[in-house]
Amino acid sequence: MDGWNSMIETDVLVIGAGPVGLTAANLLADQGLRVLLAERHPGTSDEPRAISITDESLRVMAEIGIMDRLAPEMLMDTGARYFGRRGQLLAAVRPAAPRLGQPGKSQFDQPVLESLLLEAARQRPLIDLRFNTEAFRISDGPDYVDTVLIDDAGKSTVRAKWVVACDGGRSPVRSQLGIPMEGSTQVQKWIVVDTVNNPGEPEKFAEFHCNGSRPVVVVPGVQGRRRYEFMLLPGEEAAQVTTPAAIQALIAPFRRIEEEDIRRAAVYVAHSRVALNYRAGHVLLAGDAAHMMPPFAGQALNAGVRDVANLAWKLAATVRGEGTDALVDTYQAERRPHAVDMVRLSQRIGAVVMNVHPVLTAVRDAVVTASGIVPAAKRWLTGMKFLKQPYFRSGCVVAPAAGLSKSAAALVGRSLSQPEVRLRSGETAALDALLGAGWAVLRFPAGQAGSFEVQPFAGPSGENSAPVTVTDTAGAFTALAGSGISLIVRPDRYVAAAVPAGDESQAIDGLQAYLPRLSLSPVQVS
Ligand SMILES: Cc1cc2nc3c(=O)[nH]c(=O)nc-3n(C[C@H](O)[C@H](O)[C@H](O)COP(=O)(O)OP(=O)(O)OC[C@H]3O[C@@H](n4cnc5c(N)ncnc54)[C@H](O)[C@@H]3O)c2cc1C
Repeated sequence: MDGWNSMIETDVLVIGAGPVGLTAANLLADQGLRVLLAERHPGTSDEPRAISITDESLRVMAEIGIMDRLAPEMLMDTGARYFGRRGQLLAAVRPAAPRLGQPGKSQFDQPVLESLLLEAARQRPLIDLRFNTEAFRISDGPDYVDTVLIDDAGKSTVRAKWVVACDGGRSPVRSQLGIPMEGSTQVQKWIVVDTVNNPGEPEKFAEFHCNGSRPVVVVPGVQGRRRYEFMLLPGEEAAQVTTPAAIQALIAPFRRIEEEDIRRAAVYVAHSRVALNYRAGHVLLAGDAAHMMPPFAGQALNAGVRDVANLAWKLAATVRGEGTDALVDTYQAERRPHAVDMVRLSQRIGAVVMNVHPVLTAVRDAVVTASGIVPAAKRWLTGMKFLKQPYFRSGCVVAPAAGLSKSAAALVGRSLSQPEVRLRSGETAALDALLGAGWAVLRFPAGQAGSFEVQPFAGPSGENSAPVTVTDTAGAFTALAGSGISLIVRPDRYVAAAVPAGDESQAIDGLQAYLPRLSLSPVQVS
């Protein structure tokens, strides 16, 4: 047929090489899957977008192997300061103490992250990376899904076992599948300006100036970078506010800048929307394609990274014939509720920051200041307790038994802590390095305080790694020390089950509906 090239076969087609698609491709390849990553643009984006990254995303970046180059590009472990109508400090928020082996919140630069993820993808032979390639039409079949790709050479068809649509907020895939979004669009527009050549050492706080007239957010960075975000006033338009002179005037109260100090500027309107379904047959939505939220809580890209970390091992399990269709369904059950929470949180913070009503902002300042005298409320606010971490009540987890200790039960459905542990040799290691890329078990032998055992499950080759005993020097698992409890940990580092050591097999049996062949004992290979 004229203009048609041959059929390409792959395990997973990832549509969109934004941060979420690039993360997905790397994780899927690390699970041993062939990936075709199609991006319609000639390269990654250079837009002033995400600037806050969470510990869980950084844990994924460490797994992909880019942390050594990403860390120097980040201002690690930052908090936030909220200022009121008169410029008075309302609250200083510090992220919770590091739990996942990375600081709770750090400032970064989305284009830098994308370029590092791209480099990582280029180093993985299982990824077939295609820029200037648009995914066009998807036809789902019983065992595979066909997608038409268009590039300079014409049209071709990709036959994949799964499609992961990471094609952004406008998601053509979501539209084609007719998946509705629930939610609304924010009325207020914002101009976002990334600047360079800022002098001095940055303070480790983002500033929210809730001044009741023109709300402003200022975010520090490394290497002289600083982000300024200004809410537009009624009647102000993008063309008018993005000129160098207009930007200089906006930033003037903070700093005098030259035209060459303006790195990027764009006007945005935020959406608060979540897709009704994350799955249609063999097609899954991830990242902004599945949810969009205002940037005030810095959670959107982070939610996307969580999506694909949740999804990659599940798709790999089905491709290997180890996981059931029900396992893929747990993706939505586990991920969507948290995305809804993060959208609501972002809206609530936005409502506080963007308020320009004279009476309401005066009341707000009084109330927030007063909460300073209520210790519990202050701890809740300043310790970022409002930022709920993902917690799976249903999905690929085994509900804790009635008699289980509270501290053990509370870990099920949550991400596992990642302390540095000491090996018998005296060397230290990050816990993730001992868990392997698949399932693992952590055992806290009865009566044995201060140390625990780590054992990865048998891999596809059937080889079972021997348990390694480590010392919990950081005291991350003090509550479980000597308890006789075992934690069954999923490849995405979430705890699937907590059981007395003798019940490990029973716990694994509890996951049969999702992984009928999951086994801790060596797999017999013929
Ligand atoms: C001002 C601002 C500040 C933000 N701050 C934060 C923050 O601090 N923290 C945070 O977590 N998030 C933040 N975000 C959100 C974050 O930028 C997005 O969540 C993130 O970019 C989403 O990544 P994605 O890969 O899902 O989508 P995108 O980055 O939108 O990538 C989608 C890709 O798909 C491609 N594509 C689309 N259709 C097709 C097709 N048919 N074929 C091939 N390719 C296609 C597009 O070209 C694009 O490259 C912010 C956003 C803005 C605007």
